[in-house]
Amino acid sequence: MSISGLTYLDHNATTPMKPAALEKMQEMLGFPGNASAIHKAGRDARRRIEQARGEIAAALQTGARDIIVFTAGATEANNLALLGAGMERVIVSATEHPSVLNVRSDAEILRVDANGIVDIAALDQMLEGNTRQTLISVMYVNNETGVIQPVEEIVAVARKRGALVHSDCVQAFGKIPLDVQKLGADFVTLSAHKMGGPQGVGCLVICNCNPVTAQIRGGNQEKNIRSGTENLPAIVAFGHAATLIDVEGFQKLALWRDKIEAAVKAAAPEAVIFGANSPRIANTTMFALPAAPSETQLIALDLAGICVSNGSACSSGTVKPSHVLKAMGADDAAAGASLRVSLGWNTAEKDVDYFIAKWLEMYGRVQSRKKG
Ligand code: PMP
Repeated sequence: MSISGLTYLDHNATTPMKPAALEKMQEMLGFPGNASAIHKAGRDARRRIEQARGEIAAALQTGARDIIVFTAGATEANNLALLGAGMERVIVSATEHPSVLNVRSDAEILRVDANGIVDIAALDQMLEGNTRQTLISVMYVNNETGVIQPVEEIVAVARKRGALVHSDCVQAFGKIPLDVQKLGADFVTLSAHKMGGPQGVGCLVICNCNPVTAQIRGGNQEKNIRSGTENLPAIVAFGHAATLIDVEGFQKLALWRDKIEAAVKAAAPEAVIFGANSPRIANTTMFALPAAPSETQLIALDLAGICVSNGSACSSGTVKPSHVLKAMGADDAAAGASLRVSLGWNTAEKDVDYFIAKWLEMYGRVQSRKKG
């Protein structure tokens, strides 16, 4: 899709809002009610928030004892789970988002294999004879590679060993079926801006009423778990975006993802496609071309008006070798030469074709420089 003349292929960083969700948000922007107020305006705001909570609960098929707590995004929800669950021991996978990896300095790291999948046998070993209260945090879908983790199997190991599980499902919501009861995790994190809602709102789903201590304290909103006046317009738009989810339609993006990978491989057989042997979500490809550092590729494509990334956008604009790829065993050259293309609900085939043409041009320049 063209945003002010740009070809936007960075949906895992943020997805443009779906028009109907944007419309809902705009409708609510001037609304005066505070959902904690007793008067009519307050009650209307409360009703809208509870409607949104219900819409998200329906999309996730939550159970009667599951609670949705709205937060200012997934970073906060991940912090709330890892700190608020009050566990003595935390185990996190090596490919987690920084908002999980950087929360507890005492977190133990669970390794992944070359395909980006967590080592379940290693987890089982880490938990052998465990007597401490333990939380395991493994994301459902990796934001850089799109690799899908076997969360249900992780939950089974955790149950056997008496541990709890948190899953950052930000990149799964709206992209693969997400039924929280089937998944079996104790805590689930979501973010609105990865599925057609606005930035700055997300939630933590607390399953089976697991106790969580508030990390932001004040007026005791959100069932005493997250204080602060609810972000009404953003929450309403988040809820509406949940009603627009089309997981089946999303799978069609795999065709264009595969088209990109085939073009890259045909031109550069040495290119490495990360997670290609694992289950992956349909919209994401991450590949590396060791001859062309990420920066070279990103700048060339940016000059052509193409927005892609080298992985997580959460490192304040820096181009660093990806920790995800390094955890998968990539060397510095490959981890520093990666490119992530992530498609979304408004991607058109011409965007994909334009990307391929410009990427091939860039690759041609790299090749002729090498020869010259
Ligand atoms: N987890 C994952 C997997 C993500 O992709 C992101 C966004 N890059 C986050 C957490 C953080 O989400 P937010 O921007 O809502 O804080």
